[in-house]
Amino acid sequence: MVRKVLVIGAGISGLTSIKACLDEGLEPTCFESGHDMEEPEPGRANIYFSVILNSSKERMAYSDFPPPAELPNNMHHSEVLLYLRLYAQNFNLLQHIHFKVLRALRASTTTAGITAVPKVCMEREWWWWGSGALEVILPWTSAELLKSRSGAWVVSRVGEGGLPVDMLGVSRLDMMLQRLFPSWSARVLENKVNKVFDHRLYGLKPKHGIFAQNAVVSDDLPARIISGRVQVKPNVKEFRGSRVVFEDGSSLDKVDLVVFATGYNYGFPFLPPELQTKCGYRLRLYKHVFPPSLTPPTLAVVGFVHGLGALTPMAEMQARWATRVFKGLIHLPSEETMLQDIERDMATMHQKYACSEHTPIQVDYIPYLDSLADLVGVRPNIPRLFLKDPRLAMEILLGPCTSYQYRLSGPGQWAGARQAILTQWERVLQPFRSRVLPEPEHKPSSGLSIMMVFSGEALLCCFFINKQTLSSFFPLKLSH
Ligand SMILES: Cc1cc2nc3c(=O)[nH]c(=O)nc-3n(C[C@H](O)[C@H](O)[C@H](O)COP(=O)(O)OP(=O)(O)OC[C@H]3O[C@@H](n4cnc5c(N)ncnc54)[C@H](O)[C@@H]3O)c2cc1C
Repeated sequence: MVRKVLVIGAGISGLTSIKACLDEGLEPTCFESGHDMEEPEPGRANIYFSVILNSSKERMAYSDFPPPAELPNNMHHSEVLLYLRLYAQNFNLLQHIHFKVLRALRASTTTAGITAVPKVCMEREWWWWGSGALEVILPWTSAELLKSRSGAWVVSRVGEGGLPVDMLGVSRLDMMLQRLFPSWSARVLENKVNKVFDHRLYGLKPKHGIFAQNAVVSDDLPARIISGRVQVKPNVKEFRGSRVVFEDGSSLDKVDLVVFATGYNYGFPFLPPELQTKCGYRLRLYKHVFPPSLTPPTLAVVGFVHGLGALTPMAEMQARWATRVFKGLIHLPSEETMLQDIERDMATMHQKYACSEHTPIQVDYIPYLDSLADLVGVRPNIPRLFLKDPRLAMEILLGPCTSYQYRLSGPGQWAGARQAILTQWERVLQPFRSRVLPEPEHKPSSGLSIMMVFSGEALLCCFFINKQTLSSFFPLKLSH
């Protein structure tokens, strides 16, 4: 008998859930309250005119559907919609979606369950306000004040060499180094970020380390601060009419408008209370998907996680796992084991991250993906790959951890996965080729020259500092 699955919401998580159902031979029906996949609904707070994704296209791609090479790396929301529409068309997902249906939620798969209510919604031309770490005050003058309770690390979308920042330093090897040497890795990255602009000088330096909380992504903030259009202030102490007094005693008169960009409140008003119990700040969901007390498992929450990377691969992996659980191919552990796992995970996350009620759903990006991939049976086996296909293995170990890695083998294997991994940088570079310049004549690279000079100097230093040691290796005549 084919099992029917109700998918609620046809966003990034809903679409991939429909596809996962189809891949497993389940029968999905999706209810989406929005009117179609053409345009964002007017009045939706989360899609303002200028939204550009923080994640680059290769990092946010579905694992068996690389984005077209010509799309820009950090897409405007209209281009994200185009990609999603292509995905839906390619896998014939649209016929399973019923638009304009607001479903009272009692379903098998909910991808709309987050009900994340921004405490304040606003239209901003340039500001990513979701982190809640920074808030904005608009006074009479057109300059803006940025109030920060705790400070924040601010990173640009544009990384070294102009490449998408989330494609750099995010390999499996980087992840291993981070796990082995967490403080050192954080210091290295903080130094790098401070080289772009010094967070202390700009008044933004937070108490927490750079990995402890998601950074604020903004290309414009440093430019706004250096040009005086934004001033960073400490927390507000009190309001006196149109006067704002800050904790350091300074104040500002004639303020028109105050915007509290204080993050999201998470709520599941549609779930029965017994499924809403919490562990720490987070909902008691096994691997952030299944309520342990519900047997058999007929409800899965997809897309309710947050990590240092795009949501798409995580939602997709959750959906692949959930559909195999629904189908009975994977069995969940006992309720007790699941509860213990949740407790353990919560304790680890609280130790590593600055968790709060506004950031309850933090996961370690690659380890979380790998843990689900293990359950589904699609985690890449790197040692074996080194024997079989060293070039691919190197890219998987040293390149950005993109979702195609989870389509190389196992259930849902995709024949194009290898090629997608080996050509991912091509698709990154393609949009930059709007003005192609002739290749420079071949000269010895400056990097090489610097290395040679550096090595020469290092050798000389060793020679002078360590004459005795050197002499034991080389038959040198040392004159005194
Ligand atoms: C400004 C902004 C920038 C972002 N940038 C990034 C980024 O760069 N990278 C990234 O990974 N994430 C980003 N995010 C987070 C992003 O919102 C999610 O990654 C993604 O949209 C989540 O997809 P989803 O399908 O889980 O939820 P949604 O996209 O919110 O989809 C949920 C769907 O469910 C529907 N729905 C809700 N309730 C019901 C109901 N009762 N009945 C029927 N339908 C219902 C809604 O209409 C909606 O279409 C950003 C968010 C914002 C606000």
